[in-house]
Amino acid sequence: MSKNTAVLVIMDGLRRDAVSPTRTPNLWALRQGGTWFARYRSMFPSATRVVSSSTATGCVPATHGLAGNSMALLDEEGRLHPHDAGAPDFLAARRAMHGRALDAPTLAERLSGHGGVVICSNVSPGAALAHDPNRAGHLFNRVVSHAPGQALEPLSDITLSIEGDRLITERFIAEMRSRRPALGVLWLGEPDATQHASTPGSDSCWEAIAAADERLGEVVAMVAEWRAAGEHVLLLAGSDHGHETVEGVIDVQAELEEAGLAPGAEHGLVTLSNGSSVMVHLAPGRDPAPVLEFFQAASWADEVLEGERLRRLGQRPGADGLLCIVAMRRRDAPNAHGLPGLVLVAKPATGKPDRLGCGQHGGLGASEQSAVMLANGPGFSAAECDIAASPIDLAPTIMDFLDLRAEGMDGRTLYRTEFPA
Ligand SMILES: [Zn+2]
Repeated sequence: MSKNTAVLVIMDGLRRDAVSPTRTPNLWALRQGGTWFARYRSMFPSATRVVSSSTATGCVPATHGLAGNSMALLDEEGRLHPHDAGAPDFLAARRAMHGRALDAPTLAERLSGHGGVVICSNVSPGAALAHDPNRAGHLFNRVVSHAPGQALEPLSDITLSIEGDRLITERFIAEMRSRRPALGVLWLGEPDATQHASTPGSDSCWEAIAAADERLGEVVAMVAEWRAAGEHVLLLAGSDHGHETVEGVIDVQAELEEAGLAPGAEHGLVTLSNGSSVMVHLAPGRDPAPVLEFFQAASWADEVLEGERLRRLGQRPGADGLLCIVAMRRRDAPNAHGLPGLVLVAKPATGKPDRLGCGQHGGLGASEQSAVMLANGPGFSAAECDIAASPIDLAPTIMDFLDLRAEGMDGRTLYRTEFPA
């Protein structure tokens, strides 16, 4: 029996409308011989750490528990603790509080004993660890790295940049060649990093997209070699979310204070920017009505997702005190380079505020939700598929390809041809 290998390449932040024969020639060539998911969507929030954990588990945040790029944890005494889920110690803090880093098993855990995984992630350490918080496989990142059961020296010479992506791709290919795992995941930091620092559609963004596509080409060459030797390789390539262009920054914290709503963990109300969405956590005992009324009346809010609507978007209302997620106002108008999608963002509590005219994501806007996915390899013919697929469908597809059972996942294998609408 010939060897089955699955390879997933994510170009972080690549919008679907950026894919073209000239801008992304390697992705385009793969598309000619694979299945293109024309309605592929991101998660909600459309944020890297949420998509990373959903990709790793095949589950929505309601099931795995990583609800936002920034989110609060609720302790047993009913106190809220705001966290940046990109920090290297976030999942350890969640484990300490809730007993588990994630509430669903990861591909790294499921494939331990079935060939193992190699994950190279050039985004935040928290997002990298979301693939394998319990050290079941091999994981490489500039801040955190491990082999099964043991820490490794992090790749501290690698930066979040085009050059860093080049180096981590080199490392990925070397690890894949020497370890020959059942699954390899390469998660590039570009074009996300460049798009956050300049206007989507600018020359520097196109350069970052071209560079990410070149990295994909390097992986395609490795895959082609293995296929020529008679091996079965499934190549999944795409992105985690797109980007919108920031047209305004809202200081939600300040507006809550002005309205007399006393935000802050000490008052039992934590709001956390996820770019173009806001996570709102409320401690038990505090009245949700005035908080919901405030957001529903805010001119900068598009939608206040709570209750059943929030549940349908894959979130669990009440978990860690989650009251609602606010999707910020956006419109289809073009930015300075003619790319559609202008959005308001929430000012983050710490760190640099978002810059006007730069890229951002996190909400439900068309350009941030329009992520990329194509499947190339056995069982995927050259076709366009319009099922409503999303990152939770990748893990079941990979398990299906490897002939392994995938119980307990929310997603469906993409080898199915019919999906619910
Ligand atoms: Zn991302």
